[in-house]
Amino acid sequence: MDFEFDDDQKLFRESLREFLDNEIAPLVEDQEKRGPMSREEAVDILKRFRKIGVGFDLESMMAMGGDPTAIAILAEEMFRVWPSAAGLVGLTFPAALVNIASDDMRERLLPKLEKSELIGCYAITEPEAGSDNRAMRTTAVLDGDEYVVNGTKTWISNAPVADLCLLVANDQTGGRIFLLVERAKSPYETSELHKLGWRAEPTGEIYFDNCRVPRENNMAEMINAMITGNRGKQLFGDQFDLTKLTGSSFMNMMAKMAPENIIFAFLRSGMALAAAGISQAALDASVRFARERSQFGKPIGRIQLVQEMLYNMKALTVTSRLLGYWAFQKALSGSPEARMASSLAKGYACEAAVKVTSDAIQVHGGLGLSEEYPLERYFRDARMLTIPDGTTEIQKLVVGREMLGAGYSAYA
Ligand SMILES: Cc1cc2nc3c(=O)[nH]c(=O)nc-3n(C[C@H](O)[C@H](O)[C@H](O)COP(=O)(O)OP(=O)(O)OC[C@H]3O[C@@H](n4cnc5c(N)ncnc54)[C@H](O)[C@@H]3O)c2cc1C
Repeated sequence: MDFEFDDDQKLFRESLREFLDNEIAPLVEDQEKRGPMSREEAVDILKRFRKIGVGFDLESMMAMGGDPTAIAILAEEMFRVWPSAAGLVGLTFPAALVNIASDDMRERLLPKLEKSELIGCYAITEPEAGSDNRAMRTTAVLDGDEYVVNGTKTWISNAPVADLCLLVANDQTGGRIFLLVERAKSPYETSELHKLGWRAEPTGEIYFDNCRVPRENNMAEMINAMITGNRGKQLFGDQFDLTKLTGSSFMNMMAKMAPENIIFAFLRSGMALAAAGISQAALDASVRFARERSQFGKPIGRIQLVQEMLYNMKALTVTSRLLGYWAFQKALSGSPEARMASSLAKGYACEAAVKVTSDAIQVHGGLGLSEEYPLERYFRDARMLTIPDGTTEIQKLVVGREMLGAGYSAYA
């Protein structure tokens, strides 16, 4: 067991930190004050990340996939600097499906994907279906070669600026399907929501009103075409073998777990690392401040009660990070524990970040509450974490069910 990154991972983290501190950090305060990014501003952010190889085109994904730990490092470091940008980039992930989409869609959208001009979003939540997403009412009913989609999705990150939406809906058989909806071809309306934290991250509602989506945009059909048809060979060459690309245990997980639970295993471990990133930013600022600020004739860092706060912040931050990487590894290896681990990590680390950022304000005294300092933003951004991708209460119930067995599920 090794708790250290290897040399390549350390190098990646160092260059990433340099990029984030120089290119991204200067944008944060102004954009957070102005509110949700416009589409142009969002594309500008995506393009900046593409310059360091972060994107959803095949080339970037294959490069990142070479060592998937880089993706976990990315989640932590991006949230340390700017949660809104991290959310924008991370939740663009449905754009990756363009790589395996129909020839028609690939021809139109691949050039944009390669230039990081495509924004994605993932839509499952509805006004009446939050924690209980089985109560979902959005329907996608097959009519000839198209699905006709009706329904409303809410709290969707990136929705107002996204070109593509990976939509979860009920089909005509009552089964659940995942459809990639291209806004320009299958128009839908959106509205914007304003929120406590992650203020620059565009979030909104989506309204589907008889929205027609080609049948070939069904994610299951896309994946099927890749595995059994020619598309995999077309993209990756004659030697194409998905098992080799993803690892056999991951394929095993694909066979055993519902797609939304696989997506959640990654999103939730990512959220735990996001929380560790925000906690780290608040802790770093507090350690600096404890050295600089003097009261009673000495630096406040020499006061034992202040050191106790720093101790607690450190313990919560380190534990969050370890849980986050542990859960991410479980998801990557397709472990049967992936669901439990990602919920445990998400539940713990997101609550920890609220406590750490609150203590960081306390260490800073009145300045911690000032908008001139980033502490109040860290706190607002951390407070956001305990709700998306499943509330803390739901994470507890998932862990309970995974420990006790399906017969003990408190939410089924
Ligand atoms: C900033 C932000 C971004 C988001 N981004 C996305 C996105 O990109 N895509 C997407 O699909 N969704 C997204 N969501 C939606 C998010 O996943 C839901 O908000 C979340 O699942 C909770 O649903 P809800 O808000 O309807 O709360 P509710 O489910 O109504 O919960 C209200 C309260 O009841 C508690 N509760 C509910 N059921 C139980 C139970 N069985 N046992 C114990 N307590 C329970 C909850 O824990 C919570 O405290 C986002 C949300 C936010 C805030």
